[in-house]
Amino acid sequence: MPDVIQLLSDHIANQIAAGEVIQRPASAVKELMENAIDAGASEIQLIIKDAGKELVQVVDNGSGMTPTDARMSFERHATSKIRDINDLFSIRTMGFRGEALASIAAVAQVEMKTKKTDADTGTRLVIEGTEVINQEPCATNTGTSIMVKNLFYNVPARRHFLKSNTTEFRHIVDEFTRIALAHPHIAFKLWHNGAEQFHLEAGNLKTRIKGLLGNSYEKNLVPVEEKTDFLNITGFIGKPEAATRTRGMQFFFINDRFIRNAYLHHAVVQAYEGLIEKEAFPFYVLFLEADPARVDVNVHPTKQEVKFEDDRMMYAYLNAAVKHGLAKYNIAPSLDFTLNAEIQQLSSVQLPQTATQKEQTEKGYLYNNFSGKNQAHFIDKKDGLKQWKDLYEIANKQAANTHQENIVSIPSTLHSDNASDNGQGILSVHGSMLMTTVKSGLMLIHIRRAQERIWYERLLSQWNNGNTPSQQMLFPASYELSPQDAILLHEALPDLSRIGFDISPFGQHTFVVQGVPTGLPQGEEKNVLDEVVDQLKHESPDAIAKRSEILLAQMAKRLSRNKEAIHHKEGQEALIDELFACTQPEYTPSGKRVFTLITHDDMDRMLG
Ligand code: ADP
Ligand code: MG
Repeated sequence: MPDVIQLLSDHIANQIAAGEVIQRPASAVKELMENAIDAGASEIQLIIKDAGKELVQVVDNGSGMTPTDARMSFERHATSKIRDINDLFSIRTMGFRGEALASIAAVAQVEMKTKKTDADTGTRLVIEGTEVINQEPCATNTGTSIMVKNLFYNVPARRHFLKSNTTEFRHIVDEFTRIALAHPHIAFKLWHNGAEQFHLEAGNLKTRIKGLLGNSYEKNLVPVEEKTDFLNITGFIGKPEAATRTRGMQFFFINDRFIRNAYLHHAVVQAYEGLIEKEAFPFYVLFLEADPARVDVNVHPTKQEVKFEDDRMMYAYLNAAVKHGLAKYNIAPSLDFTLNAEIQQLSSVQLPQTATQKEQTEKGYLYNNFSGKNQAHFIDKKDGLKQWKDLYEIANKQAANTHQENIVSIPSTLHSDNASDNGQGILSVHGSMLMTTVKSGLMLIHIRRAQERIWYERLLSQWNNGNTPSQQMLFPASYELSPQDAILLHEALPDLSRIGFDISPFGQHTFVVQGVPTGLPQGEEKNVLDEVVDQLKHESPDAIAKRSEILLAQMAKRLSRNKEAIHHKEGQEALIDELFACTQPEYTPSGKRVFTLITHDDMDRMLG
């Protein structure tokens, strides 16, 4: 049997690699311009002929290369930007794989001229399909000029695959725009077929946006500037009236690298909720700056996708920064940061920071709202307490109103005054039961069931009044179902909305949960919906009245899993008060006993 495995030649290996890095003229534009930026250029010219099919040339005034480096730069895996794997985690340059020039040289005819600042002569190098045709000294300016001619001349299938000149040139302008936006301090020019298309002076982001997108953009720009320990967010967002029906004017840069990210896009759009139409795209140019160790750029060869250590943190910060930007300019009426505590739990937030990072950010808005650990915690607690205070008051009022007509004789047997007077108060048993003295003996209350009853009656009255408080989720959750279940959920949407869910259909059998009834513990929304769907499956479909009952009972069950509130004495008292203000305190909606009474007689009997 003959052996069949062969090593690929460098040329073929490079051609294959080129397929990943260089898909069209615009990819060469991106790689060459990024190299110029990495080389520290302050002026970069892009010269295009025939939408890049005939020529892509980038001329820079950067560091230039020595003759040996010039030759080396076209080798695969040849890079000056990383030395070992750890450098990947502190990468600040645009490139680092050492693949671009090798890839380009494998599929085009390339001519490079380059000179170091202090060198007398430069180097001219001609390469065609990986093969060095000529290398010689030459007179040239400091910096580097690379001409890429007849891209894919030796890969006809690929060349054939290129789109019309209009399309390919649009891709080139897109790349040029992104790079020019990310580097406003660098001057750029773009020529196409001898005509100057862009002439951008070095300046700031605002002048750059105007230069690229037109002067009319200026009046619509709202600055965003937030600095935190973990992330800096700067840039501009558009006023709501500048939102468009087509996408295209949305730019995210992470550490100056353009990225696409639907999740972060959603974070921005969500902040515009109620300000723009659902189908509209707000304008934004936002720079997220994070410690490179927390951003993994090594995910995708063309590096428009990155991974963050913690997406949810990015989402939360970005969303808050945009909201704050809009509010500061009186565009959005008020701020709504309901779930601060959630952010505190994210692992990234717990990581240590350098002293300078800390110092830099301590005055920032986001810092004060999110990063002050104890503060957020404090706010959270206070809110919790207030809620219970409210409950307590409601309980007292209702108790006063309903005392007489109330079914059971409980209120008259219950004397918590008595209990606290003698210092006995309320005893929490393993966090799941409360024990309290009453006139006729001892009362044992099942905490979760009590909460279930209380929540049920609260929800019921809110349902009847048609106003259930809802809270927007910080991290909208998608919820996917089987086609059959999706139909059931779809039918239940009006009812769900009435109890405080904000759910909209999203694709075939998927829904996006954006808001939940106030008080629903984080992460519980899916469980509730699962249970609701499950229950609905087993009910006759037209029992609409029944459906609302099911919903309310399920909700009450879920809401009652929040034990936090009964750790305080006030919370415990409020719980008992509110329980006995219920119309049916003895049983949960599903018929379980909520409390039991141990009378003096019982105790006497127990002790013989
Ligand atoms: P990478 O950018 O990933 O390092 P490239 O193939 O794009 O890989 O470039 C290889 C090397 O060639 C770079 O690391 C850099 O040292 C050098 N180089 C490329 N373009 C330029 C330029 N315009 N000016 C100076 N050096 C350059
Ligand atoms: Mg490069």
